[in-house]
Amino acid sequence: MHVRTLTGCLAAALLSLPLLSGQAVAAGSPAAARVITYDASGSAEFRSAVDQGAAIWNESVEGAELRPVPAGQRADIRILADDGWPRALPTSLGRGTVWIGRQAVDEGYNTVRISSHELGHILGLPDRKPGPCSSLMSGSSAGVPCTNPYPNAAEKAEVEDNFAGAAGSPSAVAGPVPVLVED
Ligand SMILES: [Zn+2]
Repeated sequence: MHVRTLTGCLAAALLSLPLLSGQAVAAGSPAAARVITYDASGSAEFRSAVDQGAAIWNESVEGAELRPVPAGQRADIRILADDGWPRALPTSLGRGTVWIGRQAVDEGYNTVRISSHELGHILGLPDRKPGPCSSLMSGSSAGVPCTNPYPNAAEKAEVEDNFAGAAGSPSAVAGPVPVLVED
């Protein structure tokens, strides 16, 4: 009951956004991307890889834009480094926590691919394993030699759908159920 009520409020709030941005859209800009802030201050030696992973998503999709959080503000995504396996805990679409785990890095997995893969979970994508290197969400199943950090066409389209639906569909607003996704 609680969740349903909250979701309804969020949907109502998001539905009003197109009205506010109507002028920009009329002027010929693409539909406004949802800005998602991330805090990579806890990502230690992986900070540059995390920034590259975010930049890859920004050049790959229109519906969401990842930006470093301004100082003093609370980020939508927290990105941390630790000694475990890389994982993500999406709490809602575009929000959650990512761990860039050194265990996979020590085994030789590419840090930029790990970063964009984990950000993919926060953008609503599930793992697609086993899968080829051309798939970002195939994760570690593509093997250590795979360094591809780019989502394929289907993965890009799925993220676009997730964020396009966010304005109109309560279920899309709610996004992924908070479940820890390893790798
Ligand atoms: Zn994964």
